[in-house]
Amino acid sequence: MSSESRTDVLLIGGGIAAASAARALREGGFDGSVVLATRELDAPYHRPPGSKEHLRGEQDQAEALILPEGWWEENAVDLRLRTGVLSLDAGAKVAKLQTKEELAFGRALVATGAMVRRLSVDGSGLEGIHYLRSLRNSDTIRGDLADAAEAEPDGRPRVVLVGGSYIGCEVAASLTATGTPATILMQESEPLERTFGSEIGRWVRSRLEAGGVEVRGGVDVVGFRNAEGGDGEGRVASVVLADGTAVAADIVVAGVGAQPDAMLAKRAGLELGESGGIRCDDRLRTSAAGIWAAGDICEYDSVLHGERVRIEHEEAAAAQGAYVARQWLGEDAPFAEVPYFFSDLADWVSFESLGPARRWDRTVIQGSLDEDRFAVWFLEGDRARGYASFNGGGDLDAARAVLQAGESVDAAALGG
Ligand SMILES: Cc1cc2nc3c(=O)[nH]c(=O)nc-3n(C[C@H](O)[C@H](O)[C@H](O)COP(=O)(O)OP(=O)(O)OC[C@H]3O[C@@H](n4cnc5c(N)ncnc54)[C@H](O)[C@@H]3O)c2cc1C
Repeated sequence: MSSESRTDVLLIGGGIAAASAARALREGGFDGSVVLATRELDAPYHRPPGSKEHLRGEQDQAEALILPEGWWEENAVDLRLRTGVLSLDAGAKVAKLQTKEELAFGRALVATGAMVRRLSVDGSGLEGIHYLRSLRNSDTIRGDLADAAEAEPDGRPRVVLVGGSYIGCEVAASLTATGTPATILMQESEPLERTFGSEIGRWVRSRLEAGGVEVRGGVDVVGFRNAEGGDGEGRVASVVLADGTAVAADIVVAGVGAQPDAMLAKRAGLELGESGGIRCDDRLRTSAAGIWAAGDICEYDSVLHGERVRIEHEEAAAAQGAYVARQWLGEDAPFAEVPYFFSDLADWVSFESLGPARRWDRTVIQGSLDEDRFAVWFLEGDRARGYASFNGGGDLDAARAVLQAGESVDAAALGG
């Protein structure tokens, strides 16, 4: 093995978790060798604009970069694009790269993220059915939308979103706000209900509908058909529901969840957790010595939540990546940051959330839903489990302090 085939640190994955680890290492004064190997074609970028500014054509790829273009060279981090890690020998600490190179490492971070869940119903292979994970997917949707608009006499293709969670709501809002009214089809009754409950879900629906989105809850998508009624080839023309009815569609975007990309971890023999992510301890260490995990792939023992959690949010992934780097630089404390999440539905609704509350038996609302600016506490007994601020309502910093402390709260004093 040549001397170039060894690195002190190997960061696997080209998302925000790996990029944040690289930045934190250099900011923390680490002067060893660092390789970031990703199978992406592009340098690490923020994914959230893919359903928001980027999809609306308001922001290009360069503006979404996590680190400026020259950062990697200036900081002597060897960024290797199109370089998937095919396998890891966890015992020998050697990675086999897509380039056929074998790379020995001192420590590794597995930050392979998540991949979209795909629908497996009749007709799901028809053209015009999209999934959204990368900015390139976002570009493809925009391109398809432009082509479909040309084919329509009124220039308005019929767009259907499958799923009423973040991707469905964000994409529907982005497209409708830029002139292409969209319809959301979802199993749940109200959008974002699984995250925030039905009361907030009804409010979210009202905001989407006020913006021109059609929202249909309680429906099951069982297939897709082309214009001839077939499902084998050609382009999608309708979405078939379980009750036998169909909804016309020129373009479909399915936002039906993500699943941890654990292929490499599995091959390497790393222990996986219940959610399919890499099982980690409270310091984000995997079951193999010298290998850590961070981001969407990481299922860790959270001292804050008192249970094992896996979070799929950008700031949480960034915090975990940076945390692992600081551990390598000598810090020694369990990972205990309160996970934070943000989302925008066009410029109609913006919200920030802490927790996230995985379960609750009560909510306390600060402010008023009618005024479209409020915050919600999610409580389980006398424990605060989560907090969400809509359109700037409430006090996120104060809530973070309460959640961080993990103390009991007096619901009456929370300002409901
Ligand atoms: C459209 C969209 C909108 C979103 N909006 C929000 C939002 O508003 N707010 C929010 O908080 N979060 C949002 N998220 C979620 C957020 O983007 C993710 O939580 C975050 O990207 C996770 O970062 P990560 O680094 O863990 O993983 P990822 O971003 O998934 O990156 C993992 C990387 O690893 C690479 N990889 C996988 N396997 C290998 C391998 N074997 N070898 C080399 N490389 C490999 C992948 O190609 C990928 O580049 C959104 C996500 C999407 C898709």
